Amino acid sequence: MKYIRLGDLLVKGGIITQEQLEEALQLQSGSGQRLGEVLQANGFITEKQLISTLMDQLGVEFIDLNTFAIPPEMAQALPKSIAKKHMVVPVRMTRSDIQIAMADPLNFVAIEEVRAVTRRRVIPLIASAAAVERAVQNLYSNQGAMQAIEDMRRDLLGSQYAAPGPQSVTVDEEEADAAPAIRLVNSIIDRAATEGASDIHMEPGEDSMAIRMRIDGVLRNIITVPLELQGPVISRMKIMARMDIAQKNIPQDGRANATVRQEALDLRISTLPTIHGEKVVVRLLRKTPELSTLEGVGLLGENLRRLRHLLDTTTEGMVLMVGPTGSGKTSTLYAIIHRLRREEVNLVSLEDPVEYQMDGVCQVQINEKTGLTFASVLRAVLRQDPDIIAVGEIRDGETAEIAMRAAMTGHLVFSTVHTNSALSSIDRLLDIGVESYLIAGALKGIVSQRLVRRVCPHCRRAYTPTPEEAQALGLAPDGEYTFYRGAGCGECFGTGYRGRVGAFEVLTVTPAIRRAIRERSMTELETAMGAAGFSPMMDDCRRLVLEGVTSAEEINRVLGDG
Ligand SMILES: [Zn+2]
Repeated sequence: MKYIRLGDLLVKGGIITQEQLEEALQLQSGSGQRLGEVLQANGFITEKQLISTLMDQLGVEFIDLNTFAIPPEMAQALPKSIAKKHMVVPVRMTRSDIQIAMADPLNFVAIEEVRAVTRRRVIPLIASAAAVERAVQNLYSNQGAMQAIEDMRRDLLGSQYAAPGPQSVTVDEEEADAAPAIRLVNSIIDRAATEGASDIHMEPGEDSMAIRMRIDGVLRNIITVPLELQGPVISRMKIMARMDIAQKNIPQDGRANATVRQEALDLRISTLPTIHGEKVVVRLLRKTPELSTLEGVGLLGENLRRLRHLLDTTTEGMVLMVGPTGSGKTSTLYAIIHRLRREEVNLVSLEDPVEYQMDGVCQVQINEKTGLTFASVLRAVLRQDPDIIAVGEIRDGETAEIAMRAAMTGHLVFSTVHTNSALSSIDRLLDIGVESYLIAGALKGIVSQRLVRRVCPHCRRAYTPTPEEAQALGLAPDGEYTFYRGAGCGECFGTGYRGRVGAFEVLTVTPAIRRAIRERSMTELETAMGAAGFSPMMDDCRRLVLEGVTSAEEINRVLGDG
C-alpha cells in the first residue's frame, strides 16, 4: 500500500488549510497522538468530516458498528491484545481476506500487524473511534466463554469436570489452565459482574442452554451453551454452592464467594428441576456495594444537604424511606446505615432478607415463618440497649407502633414504607392504625424515591421538546430546552438506557408539619410542606431530564403511576 498522509488529504479536500495543518503538526510533535486526534481535539475538523474525507479520498467503506452484528467467532480471528492496542475490530473474514473496522484507516502499523497475525489481506473499513472501542469491548467480553465452550467440546471425554473445585474462587480471565467448565463458569460470572447484572439465569432448553442476565432490571440473552456442555456447567455451579451433585430432582440452594477484578461478590445459587434439566439462578450481591454512599444512590444538591443535616443533627426520632417496590429505598437505607455506623454506637438492623453484610452493624434476619417477625425482633432489640435501629420495612400497625415508641424514647429509628410519596406515607401510617400523636411525635423526616433509567451515554441524542412535553415536566411551554434520549445501540441492547439512578424528595418535619399530622389535616399538611420549602419529586425529575441524565419518556413512565 502506498504511503498517504492524512494532512495532505485534508488539505486537498479543502477541509483544513495548509496553515492549520502546520499548526496541528506542531501541536502533534512529541505528543504521541495521531494527527487525526490532534485535529479533532483542537476543533479543526469534526469526526464526521474526517470520516467522509477518508471515504472520498481513499475509497474506504464506512461501517456502522451500532447496527452491524459482529459474529462472535471474530474474537478468534484476531487476538484481543492487538485489537486493543490499535483499536481495530475484525468484522468479516474469508479464506484470503479480513475486514477490520478502524477509526484511522491510515494507521499502516496496525494494518501491517493484523496482516502478519492473520496471514490475510487486510481490508480496512472506517468507523467512529467510540464505536470501535465499544465493539472491541463487546466482542472480546464473551471471548473467555466462547473459548471455554470450544475447549469443552474438544475434550468432552475428560473427567475433570467432576473434580471438586475450591468453594471460594477467584475469577480470572487469564486462568488458562483451569478445566474448561470452570473457565466457562468463571467467564460467565466475570461478564455478569462487568455488566453490573443482578442475576444470572442458566436455562436448559430442548437443544441448548441459554445464559441470560438481568441487567438494569431486564433479562438479556448473553450466550448460548451447547446441550452437551450443559451438564458440566450445572455440576460446576452445584459444586461451588456445596450442593449435592447427584441429587437432580429437588430444588437446592447454596452460596459461594467470588472475586472479580478485586471486587468481592456473594453468590446466592439455587437450582430448580425443569423438564429439560436443572435451571440454575445466581444472584450476585456486591459485598462492598458501590452505591453505599448518599451521593452514590443519586442524592444531590438541596436533597442531599437536607438529609445530611437531618442525619447529623438528629439523635432520636424516626426517618422513613418511602417508594414503590424496586424504587431503591433499601439501597438508600443501606447508605444511611453505612454513614452512621461508628464504634461508639450500637446499630442494629432488622432485615428481610439481609442483602449485604456490613461490619460494625448487628444484622438480624427476619423470618416470619419461625416467629421472628419485625415486631417480635424489635421488642427484643429494645432490651439490648440500641442507639440506632433500622427496621427493614413497616408492614403492619404493630411494628409501626413499637418503632414509633422507640423513636420517642431516645432511639434513632430508620425504616421503609411502601407508598408513592412523602405525603401519602403519612396517610398510610394513619391507615394501618398508628395514632396521629405518635407519628407527629416520632417523625423527623421522610425520603421518597424512585429509580429512573439513565440515557445510554453511547447513543445519547439531543432534541428540542414540544411545548406539551415541556409542560408535562412543569416547564414553561414557550421556553427553549434541550432534552435527551438514547437512539439504541449495542451497548444498551437497543433500549437507549444504561444504568439507573435515584430521583428523590426529602421532607424534614417542621413544627407546622407536626401540628398538621397531629390534627390529621392533609390540606394543612400540604400548606405546611410548601412553607417548609419542600421540593417535590418532579423537581428532581425535571433536573435529571434537563441535565440529560434521563429522558422525558422515562419520567412519564416512572411517575405515571401517580
Ligand atoms: Zn445505547
